[in-house]
Amino acid sequence: MPNKHQGSCLCGSVKYELSGDFQSFFLCHCSRCQKDTGSAHAANLFAKASILTWLKGEAEVTTYQHQNSLHTKSFCQKCGSTLPTATKTDNSIIVPAGSLDSPVPISPTAKIFVSSCANWTKNLDNVPNYEELPEQT
Ligand SMILES: [Zn+2]
Ligand SMILES: [Zn+2]
Repeated sequence: MPNKHQGSCLCGSVKYELSGDFQSFFLCHCSRCQKDTGSAHAANLFAKASILTWLKGEAEVTTYQHQNSLHTKSFCQKCGSTLPTATKTDNSIIVPAGSLDSPVPISPTAKIFVSSCANWTKNLDNVPNYEELPEQT
């Protein structure tokens, strides 16, 4: 029996299940992923020979294919959350780690495109940490 992983978007319109295993988990710092996520990097798991099933809301899912590149992004039309994409090239499924509701089963394999790292990510170890939203003082 293959392992099953479940995920959903923020608004809950879309739910999916992936049947299979993740071979790699990349934190991509390229400029496209910065635009795409609005953050420092994408966090994508890759599953070969796996089956992606939309349990709910498939009609809400749009896939954007960036011109002249392999960069694709699937997202919920209602809330904009990133969702899995089935690649046309090699039959693998790309799953954004944050979209999973079941535990992420592997640790990141590597950071990639670090030459494009946003300059504000350089000294994050020195930034104060709060368990939750800090009190306004
Ligand atoms: Zn949504
Ligand atoms: Zn990238």
